[in-house]
Amino acid sequence: VDAVDVRDVDSVCPYCGVGCAVTVHATDDTILAVSGRESPVNHERLCVKGRYGWDYALHPQRLTKPLIRREEYYPKGPLSPEVQDSDSRTKSKSKPGGIVDYDTVLPAFREATWDEALDLVASRFKAIRDERGGDALAGFGSAKCSNEEAYLFQKLIRAVFRTNNVDHCTRLCHASSVAALMETIGSGAVTNVFADVARADVALLTGSHAGANHPVAATFMKEAVKNGTKLIVVDVRRHDLVDFATHFAQIHSGSDVAFYNAVMHVLITEDLVDHDFIKARTEGFPELRELVLRDFSPEQTEPMCGVAAEEIREIARTIGRAGSMLVFWGMGIAQHTTGTDNARCLISLCLMTGNMGRPGTGLHPLRGQNNVQGASDAGLIPMVYPDYQPVTNKDIRQKFEQAWGVELSPDPGLTVVEITHAALQGDIAGMYVLGENPFVSDPNTNKVRGALANLDFLVVQDIFLTETAEFADVILPASSYFEKTGTFTNTDRRVQVGRQVLDPPGEARADWQITAEIASRMGYPMDYASPAEIFEEFAGLTKNYQRLTHERLGATGKLWPCTHPETEDGAQILFGDKFPTPNGRGKFVPCPFLPADELPNDEYPFVLTTGRVLEHWHTGTMTRRSRALNALQPDAFVVVHPQDLSQLGISGEELVRVSSRRGTIVLAARSDNTVSPGTIFIPFHFREAAANVLTTDALDPYGKIPEFKFCAVKIDAA
Ligand code: SF4
Repeated sequence: VDAVDVRDVDSVCPYCGVGCAVTVHATDDTILAVSGRESPVNHERLCVKGRYGWDYALHPQRLTKPLIRREEYYPKGPLSPEVQDSDSRTKSKSKPGGIVDYDTVLPAFREATWDEALDLVASRFKAIRDERGGDALAGFGSAKCSNEEAYLFQKLIRAVFRTNNVDHCTRLCHASSVAALMETIGSGAVTNVFADVARADVALLTGSHAGANHPVAATFMKEAVKNGTKLIVVDVRRHDLVDFATHFAQIHSGSDVAFYNAVMHVLITEDLVDHDFIKARTEGFPELRELVLRDFSPEQTEPMCGVAAEEIREIARTIGRAGSMLVFWGMGIAQHTTGTDNARCLISLCLMTGNMGRPGTGLHPLRGQNNVQGASDAGLIPMVYPDYQPVTNKDIRQKFEQAWGVELSPDPGLTVVEITHAALQGDIAGMYVLGENPFVSDPNTNKVRGALANLDFLVVQDIFLTETAEFADVILPASSYFEKTGTFTNTDRRVQVGRQVLDPPGEARADWQITAEIASRMGYPMDYASPAEIFEEFAGLTKNYQRLTHERLGATGKLWPCTHPETEDGAQILFGDKFPTPNGRGKFVPCPFLPADELPNDEYPFVLTTGRVLEHWHTGTMTRRSRALNALQPDAFVVVHPQDLSQLGISGEELVRVSSRRGTIVLAARSDNTVSPGTIFIPFHFREAAANVLTTDALDPYGKIPEFKFCAVKIDAA
């Protein structure tokens, strides 16, 4: 390629919530390489996904034309083999990078023109809405799409479908964290940016394998340790950051509330709390104090969490004696039926020690997808409009009714798993799924499959034929990250512009254009000239994005809130003087210990916890089609402690059958002492051995997040 043909386009990595700034080196029709760009987010650093995981966009399996299901493929059912009948090794090795078997699935659909497909979509959704009411419809938006696309999608569902049944993967990710943060400090976003770890005396990393899931953020933590920050790691699994830690507490899965209550017990009994902060800025401390002093001494707690009482004391003293502590957490905290309680405890820990509103302090739930913060900000949540404005508040509802020109439903919508249950019962008849793959990502796959098959009408909009698309009536070909312009908000609240590099393949279109077309054909014109125009409308309905525009975001974006975007970068630290709660105070919420929903027994003696690996992303639609990433990690596996394998008479790397009350999968065993005896770990990326066949759909009562991190299973030789 002549150097003159190569364009350098500044954009943002499409994978995790760190949101690394990248430069894409491309010609008119292909990408040549991606490199890290100077930015406060990543200082030119990238992990293996950001650097090598872009070629999925060029994959020959990209969808290029609208598809309509053929008459002879009704009634609907799965087209690929049953998930639990698959053998992970033979499947993935015989079809490298191929997840859905295109030869089996594609014949069920015929190509259509955009006009035919969009008319069908609009008429079927309209018919369901008019005959059964808007609440018979639902939509899953995507945290892989831009803020503009998320805003438009939720506007379509609320203003055109006439329901608040709109949700996205935050429900599977940090919904419990957000519920706790909103309740206690009045805001669901991070208080301090992750780079602020450099100014922390202590960093607490809990329930997060940051080295795999937020690799560039993890480099900031490692750097801080080298410069004197003490790192405390609390986790069910040992991971690479443990090598940098002053303390590592390997707790039992589901025991976070017990562990943190015990830490707070020590802080109170040894008078290591910040009395001035508690008095001036909080409420509810006496109730919390009473609970933790009564029920959670380190000795009472040791058998519950598996950490020695003296180690709990040492960790509490390290926290209590530090001048500042910044807390990072991930799915190990959030994805429990006690996820909201777990997060409440972390918040109480910071309030009690006065670790808020200063450099090197605060709360940072590490966001998963690159735009899960933005998709939530933009309103892909059933109970709130953009900027977390409740749908139940009459004044707020009237504001949106005026802006959108229609009457809106006052009832909060259903969440992700509730929508699945409603589809199974026939209460939801039509769904629009944009860039999500619930068949693989959602808990209890066999139930999800039943729900998808039970829908009267399913539209899937994606860049590949996903497992969910096997159940679609209409499939709409969308654009990949590299084929459109839009804004993305990272875990720090930094809003950045991702810029178009290539044209979409074939007849594929940008997601916002497809959503606008559906709305218009349902009688609600959406005429936008560009994503910048959509952003302007969205920002005008919020406080946090109000002064931002595409132009003002510049090369490296702005942190919201940003009072003077022309001259400032935005707020690195929030809540220096008061919290955005009704009385300005932070609230302690006492949390008694509650066990997980499904405990091990003689028949199912192991605890299963699920998660991600460094090389793959969620349901693998992108990373398993990236040559480098798939070559590094081609197969499904289960991590089992060597002692458990030896007791089962199974050698490492042998195929095993893992079963729960909901199904069975077959995959390779990896002998590995990063887990404790009695606990196993399975990454959820691999369709042919889908971890979610096993998981439970029991929900946290507040955040409505499923318990991906705990269910009872058994293991046999395959
Ligand atoms: Fe992309 Fe996250 Fe890796 Fe950065 S750390 S390159 S945002 S996957």
